[in-house]
Amino acid sequence: MSYLSIRGLHKSYGATSIFSDINCEIGKGEFVTLLGPSGCGKSTLLRCIAGLTEVGGGQIVLDGEDLVPQAPQKRGIGMVFQSYALFPNMTVQQNVAFGLRMQKVAKEESTERVREALAMVELGDFAARYPHQLSGGQCQRVALARSLVTRPRLLLLDEPLSALDARIRKHLREQIRSIQQDLGLTTIFVTHDQEEALVMSDRIFLMNAGRIVQSGDAETLYTAPIDAFAAGFIGNYNLLDADAASRLLGRPISSRIAIRPEAIRLGGEGGANGIEGQIRSHSLLGNVIRYRVEARGVELLVDVLNRSASDMHGSGQRIALSIDTAAIREVA
Ligand code: ADP
Ligand code: MG
Repeated sequence: MSYLSIRGLHKSYGATSIFSDINCEIGKGEFVTLLGPSGCGKSTLLRCIAGLTEVGGGQIVLDGEDLVPQAPQKRGIGMVFQSYALFPNMTVQQNVAFGLRMQKVAKEESTERVREALAMVELGDFAARYPHQLSGGQCQRVALARSLVTRPRLLLLDEPLSALDARIRKHLREQIRSIQQDLGLTTIFVTHDQEEALVMSDRIFLMNAGRIVQSGDAETLYTAPIDAFAAGFIGNYNLLDADAASRLLGRPISSRIAIRPEAIRLGGEGGANGIEGQIRSHSLLGNVIRYRVEARGVELLVDVLNRSASDMHGSGQRIALSIDTAAIREVA
């Protein structure tokens, strides 16, 4: 049986339906990511689970009990937001202790638990500081400690890394994942960043316009997108309509297809598919060179690992393409 089970959940604001039938099952200790474009309903779903927003109907069953009728503070859920929402007039120690004070935990136990939580986020030496004396990344770690200290049954993270710069973001996502695994903490992480979702999650729920359109592990989401939206959102798939696909592959194809840019190889003898193309332009993305190539009237993105100068092809150059047929996905 799953640990968290969401059944037929719906939510409207006035006449506007945000989602009408969310169903999902999450196992104990799982790290699940809700991935989707801005406005698709990710935060609303988290807020419904936390009890910060009232649901229109449905069930949110955590460890056998329906949370919907319960007050937010009774649910045993920790939540971290993009904006850290720390109390500016309290020290790090006081911020982290706040939840325990509300729960009337005895002073001695509280001090020990705060110390533990700050050590987990590597801020043991920062207990006496005030939020304005911390960097953004440190503030977010305090916010995380403030949730962890309450020993939540479920941790909800709403784009906690989105306001941070790239280097801090990468470090913090590893830290979050490692703490989550150490504690075996069931976690729902929200992001609109596909890379973040792919590297962090046990399972990804891809959302669009109030629906979970696909769920699976990173490998599945990346290599087997279920439809054109999924292919467009994860990876940089080339999406071709049936006409273009038939022209490119030289055989009748009746549906749209998606081809990953790294599944097309450039150069070599004629290529397995015998397709010839012409380089239109290229851009250097660090370790990868991304080409725009035209072949049979179809424009394709092709990603090549940037190993040496011989990987570079100039604009206008004619070149053989070979497309790994296993990587050609039909999509709805
Ligand atoms: P996401 O987190 O995926 O970006 P949200 O859950 O914040 O999306 O929002 C989903 C939709 O619900 C959006 O269209 C948003 O405008 C709408 N919405 C969110 N909160 C409210 C509210 N309090 N009142 C009315 N509409 C809202
Ligand atoms: Mg949001």
